[in-house]
Amino acid sequence: MFGIFRQWKRQKWIDQPLPDAWLAILQEKVPFFSEMKESQREPFLEQLKIFLGEKHFEGAQGFEITDEVRVVIAATAVRLTTYLDISRYDRLTEIVVYEGDYRHPHQDSALGGPSADGIVYGEAHRFGTVVLSWKAVVRGLRHEDDGQDTATHEFAHVLDIADGSFDGTPILDSMKDYQPWAEVMSKHFLALREGKRLESKVLDSYGATNEAEFFAVASEVFFEKPEKMKKLLPDVYERLQSFYGWDPALPVEEQPDPKSE
Ligand SMILES: [Zn+2]
Repeated sequence: MFGIFRQWKRQKWIDQPLPDAWLAILQEKVPFFSEMKESQREPFLEQLKIFLGEKHFEGAQGFEITDEVRVVIAATAVRLTTYLDISRYDRLTEIVVYEGDYRHPHQDSALGGPSADGIVYGEAHRFGTVVLSWKAVVRGLRHEDDGQDTATHEFAHVLDIADGSFDGTPILDSMKDYQPWAEVMSKHFLALREGKRLESKVLDSYGATNEAEFFAVASEVFFEKPEKMKKLLPDVYERLQSFYGWDPALPVEEQPDPKSE
């Protein structure tokens, strides 16, 4: 879909060696990077270079955008597309980063993360901007298995909007995947809305807001508490596994190999 020029430019970015400083940031600040196997790192690092080449980062209220901020945020984004294609992020042009959790008036065009008292951790806008609190990004990475990860949440929204609508259904692999997706996701979304015990045990109640939030919240748990989700909501896990390609409940060496282009 994208033009020859963009393809050429992406190849240029891929061909650039990964700066040592970036590798050090990934090793020190991105826990899931050290848990990846070689076959996953290859597409992951290619996408990371493209993402950093194409997306504009903007600090809000004087927050300084350092290499660490850029590399860590890009890493959280391309983890989600390691088995997919970086073109899933084509609509995303800008990432605005606040130093901490911030206050923001509610906007209809945005889907924010869980918030209390008007405090926001992140937002994804349909016009191509993601807004993140750096503090929330770091918190998400530090507590790797608490089921909450703001960056994953917001970038899942971006994957959802890739087909033009925030409806909790991203672009699936083939036509035959849509019906089981709709059946499984709406069944558990409605159960979460009703406060059913099983769903409430696995998913934050914020996922009951609407289908889009359900997908974003479920994506956080899929990456952060995969064993729990696989055990208690195996059909949701199976749908997300077939979409993302990852099988995070498996040990590293048993992870599927991403298919090479
Ligand atoms: Zn959200």
